[in-house]
Amino acid sequence: MKKKCFTAIFIIAIVFTLLPVAIFAQNDPVITNLTVTRDSETTATITFDSSKNGNVAIIFKDSNGEYGFYLHDKDGVVIGHNTITITEEDKLLSGNDGYEIAVYFGEGEDDFNHLYSSQNPLNEFGAVKDTVPEVHNCTSTGTYQHNDTNHWQLCDICDKKINDGTHSNVKNEWKSDGTNHWQVCDACNAEYNKSSHTSSGVWQSDATHHWQVCEQCDEIINKAAHSGGTATTTTKANCEVCGQAYGDLLSKPSSSKPSKEPSKPSKPACDPYDLNCDGVVTCEEKYGEDWYWNEEAKACLVKDYSGIIVDTATR
Ligand SMILES: [Zn+2]
Ligand SMILES: [Zn+2]
Ligand SMILES: [Zn+2]
Ligand SMILES: [Zn+2]
Repeated sequence: MKKKCFTAIFIIAIVFTLLPVAIFAQNDPVITNLTVTRDSETTATITFDSSKNGNVAIIFKDSNGEYGFYLHDKDGVVIGHNTITITEEDKLLSGNDGYEIAVYFGEGEDDFNHLYSSQNPLNEFGAVKDTVPEVHNCTSTGTYQHNDTNHWQLCDICDKKINDGTHSNVKNEWKSDGTNHWQVCDACNAEYNKSSHTSSGVWQSDATHHWQVCEQCDEIINKAAHSGGTATTTTKANCEVCGQAYGDLLSKPSSSKPSKEPSKPSKPACDPYDLNCDGVVTCEEKYGEDWYWNEEAKACLVKDYSGIIVDTATR
């Protein structure tokens, strides 16, 4: 008896544990990511994702409690993203006030029959609810969002994209680093028009360097010292990159001086003391007739009248 009771409690516990899981699994909403924008007093755009092909019914409830009914079965809804435009002809929207809506998924028109007779068609089983916002002037206090070319803000009330525009820089100013240039948008501060520097190919140069100027941003690029080419004694080397003449003339070798008597370069000039020009400078030639060479001393000597050495010098 006691055991049976425990078994019963155990089974009940299991059922209650599994039940919510089973319900949620069965009722995963087909319609998700519902968004609604009010485009004017009479028009709105409704978007959503659907996990099945089928139809939707949309119930509108205005601020007076009046219901409107929109059945989307013409082309149906498809798996994925769907957009439904509520037009003036639908006569579902008017005035500035907002509307409550409920979106129901069905696989055929019959699935919506119960909504027609419902006392509260906004709260039937399977309702995915949102509001059609009241008509307002969209404004944003938020920061800009942007992509490569445009910026925009989202309306504080309806999340609609507003102030959508292309990036611009009125003064056409460019920023740059060693490889790229770009502009900064006046409105959203985004960097745009980013690309690598480009050159017309024209080189500029000074005495030591050459460089090019980016056509877009005026940044100096490809700067380097002149190089290559061959200097001669009369012309400077021409840089192989930019063609500019640079550097020094080739220095002239002394033997090639054409102004100095070319007839006797083979005859070396005599030592000024080598009076005979015989290649040997004697002590007499260098110091005077009283001087003579002393082999032992390896020096030039001069003696006084009594024969005492009074001076020596090397030859
Ligand atoms: Zn808005
Ligand atoms: Zn911008
Ligand atoms: Zn540039
Ligand atoms: Zn150069």
